[in-house]
This record gives sequence, structure tokens and C-alpha cells, in this order.
Amino acid sequence: MSNHHSDRAVVLGGSVAGMLAAAALAQRYGSVTVVERDVLPPTSRTSEHRRGVPQERHVHGLLPQGRQIVEELLPGFTERVLTAGGHQGDVLGDTRWYLNGLPLRQAHTGLAALSASRPLIEGSIRDLALALPNVTLLDGHDVVGVRADSGVTGARVTSLHGGGSRVLPAGLVVDATGRGSRAPHWLADLGLPGPAEEAVRIDLAYTSRLFDVPDELFDGDIVVVTARFPGQHRSSVMQRLEGGRALVTLAGVHGERAPADLAGFTAYAESLPVSATADVVRAATPAGDAVSFRYPTYVRRRYEQLATVPDGLLVLGDAACAFNPVYGQGMSVAAMCAGALRTSVEPAAFFAAQAALLDAPWTLAVRADVEGPSEPVRRLQLAAVHDAELAEAFIRVTALVDPPSALSAPWIAQRLSAPSPAAA
Ligand SMILES: Cc1cc2nc3c(=O)[nH]c(=O)nc-3n(C[C@H](O)[C@H](O)[C@H](O)COP(=O)(O)OP(=O)(O)OC[C@H]3O[C@@H](n4cnc5c(N)ncnc54)[C@H](O)[C@@H]3O)c2cc1C
Repeated sequence: MSNHHSDRAVVLGGSVAGMLAAAALAQRYGSVTVVERDVLPPTSRTSEHRRGVPQERHVHGLLPQGRQIVEELLPGFTERVLTAGGHQGDVLGDTRWYLNGLPLRQAHTGLAALSASRPLIEGSIRDLALALPNVTLLDGHDVVGVRADSGVTGARVTSLHGGGSRVLPAGLVVDATGRGSRAPHWLADLGLPGPAEEAVRIDLAYTSRLFDVPDELFDGDIVVVTARFPGQHRSSVMQRLEGGRALVTLAGVHGERAPADLAGFTAYAESLPVSATADVVRAATPAGDAVSFRYPTYVRRRYEQLATVPDGLLVLGDAACAFNPVYGQGMSVAAMCAGALRTSVEPAAFFAAQAALLDAPWTLAVRADVEGPSEPVRRLQLAAVHDAELAEAFIRVTALVDPPSALSAPWIAQRLSAPSPAAA
């Protein structure tokens, strides 16, 4: 690091990836400044929505691997969410997974998942990150570019409430501004090629509605997933939230869209291959209007393949790789990549580490979306309806705890080639 602000890091974007990056960088830098366009609301007002994260009104599951890394970076996170009314449960024992229209055998795995509103999860991360003595927030500021000489040496920001533009000098700038990241343009401004992009078109549409629910409607579970399977375009996820509420997200791909009006919403839920979602929608009390979100394409930007990345600039979170939201990977993978900042902030090393972390979740999602599950995986899913060990093996991969190669273990092949799956 050559500039005299080398002990300061600036993080662009104050959402999940940005705040987790700030927490990791606080262990290496004397000061960390997080720049955010929105004026961030207090966490106690989780019903207040902000413009920068329109996805916050839709189901957001935090996978066990993500929860564990957030907890490592920001001790006390889980407790904070639970104290505010969030729910914790086993990712298989307390989550109902309907795959191929059939429920996976529920069993205790010891892997804890959290279910709470996205504003509560994000706000809890934010509160803990900003409580670190060397992390500060500059909200209400738009990032308009980076300053560079031999490398990136600062971020250009404009106040959205008057006060003009200025440069925040820094030894490291981390772009966590999400899917609309301008980092490829900043590289172009420096005369450098941008990253190759891999994009997968899914034409996904979410329609979500909050309900007041009595506890017993979820049968003790915290999340219920009705996954799309070959030949189907519709799916749903329901999650219990703080405050006695549940959020129901109805999803469709390739032209399917759940209507926002209650009658159409209910009819769409009734068209799913299992009745779990419709049962809740019919019995619960709607709380407010439905909201919709279109997500045509998801994109991975291959920064690790660039021959030249300027010193002092890293890109993280959805800015580097935005996933198909139905697999619930984004926040967890952002946490894993933020965790990697503890090991290296040198661009080539960081982007290589990030690529290694992105490979498994990206491959899982793309394979499922483009090819559909392979024959062995589909057989495994069907056998996992009766076999708790197979269900656990499958969910450990889905939850990003084990790599996809774990499903090729000899014991799984043996179990699947047995004449009839052993009931556990
Ligand atoms: C519909 C939907 C559902 C999802 N469901 C899940 C789920 O179930 N589980 C899961 O783990 N993930 C889910 N995700 C993904 C998850 O929301 C993201 O992966 C996660 O928020 C991390 O994103 P991020 O922090 O990189 O970017 P974002 O959350 O998009 O935040 C970017 C931040 O940068 C700020 N910003 C942008 N531009 C500027 C600028 N020029 N100057 C200053 N600030 C700026 C924005 O205001 C915002 O605060 C879902 C996504 C969508 C779209």
C-alpha cells in the first residue's frame, strides 16, 4: 500500500455484504468507512422499507453456513435476531422441504438456520458492525466513482442532501453496491478490460404477502419450501417471522407470475403440487398488500480471470455474483466471501479465494436451472423422502456445508442401488 491513507478501508454499499466486509476489514484496518446511498433506518423499525434493497420484502432464508460466518464476524448476531422475535431451527428437522412434490424425511442435523425478516437480519448485522469502534457509516451518499493513480486510492462520493462531492482517500476500496455495481465501468475508465460475465436467464417473478399466523399453522416448522421440479414452473417458500407473522413468497419462472390480489394469490398457491402453502394462505390473516419483484437474469462476474486488477479495489457480494434467489444463497455466500477478507486483501489472492467459494453454489444453481437435477440426484431426492441419512446428505450440500461432490460418496451410491431405499 503506497498512499498515506493506507490504514483506512472504504466499503461501498451498506447492505449485508458491505457491513460484513466492514466487520472483516475492521480486524485489519485502523478505520473502515461504509458509504451508503440510502439513509439507513434504525433496526427497531423493521417495517420501514428502503429503496436500495427492494428484495427485502421477499422471503430471505439464512443458511447455516452463512449464519455461522456472520456469527464469527459479529458475535451476538444470532442472539440479537432471536431476542427481536426471529426463529431458529434445524435446517432439516424444523424446515419442511417438498421436492418433486414429496416431503424430505425430517431429521435433526445439528445445523441451525434462522428465519426472520430481511430487514431484521440486515439491521442486526448493521447494528453490530457499526458498534465496532473503528467502523463508521456515511449514509445518504452516492458513490460516483473511484480515484486512481497507480492503483485505486479512494472513492468519489456525492452527498444526496447537499454538500457536494468529495474523495474519501483509502488504502482499500471494496465495492459491495449489489447487482447494479459500476466497477466494470470504473475499470474501463482506467483503460482496463472488465470481467467476463456469465448470465443465466430465468425470467423469475416473486409475489410475496405477509400474514398474521397462529403458531400451530406451521406445525412447529420455521420454513416450508415447495420447490419447482422438472416440468413445473411454480414454487413457493413460506417463512415464520418476528411478531407472529409469516411471509409467503410465490415464485414463477419463464412467464409464470403469481397475481398480487388475494384471490389470484390463493388460486396460485392452490395450483402448487402440495397443499401446504394454500393451507396457510387460506387459514392466516393477510397483513397488507402483496408486492412483486422481477428477476430476469442472474450474473457472475469473473474478476479472478482478469490479467490486471488495480491494487486497492475489490468487489464482493451481489456486485461480484448475484444468484437465483430461490436457492437462498446470496447472503450466506456474501458472508463466506467477506470472511475471506480476513485472510487476504491483495486483489489476485482475494478474487481467487472468492472464486473458489462461489464455484459450488454457482454450479448448484446453474445445474438445477439449466439442466435440471441429474438422474442420480433425482433418485437421491426421491429416496430421501424415506431415508433420513440421504435427506441430511442432500441438505448439507444445499445448505453449503458440504461440497456437491459429497453426493458422489460411495455409501450414497450403494444406498441408491439397493433394491428399495432403507427406511430410516
Ligand atoms: C427477490 C430476492 C430474494 C432473495 N432471497 C434471498 C434469500 O432467501 N437468501 C439469501 O441469502 N439471499 C437472498 N437474496 C439475495 C440477497 O438479497 C443478497 O445476496 C444480499 O443482500 C447481499 O447483497 P449485497 O449486500 O451484495 O447487495 P444489496 O443487498 O443489493 O445491497 C447493495 C447496497 O448498496 C447500496 N448502493 C447501491 N449503489 C450505490 C451507490 N452508487 N452509492 C452508495 N450506495 C449504493 C444500496 O442502497 C444497497 O444498500 C435475494 C435476492 C432477491 C433479489
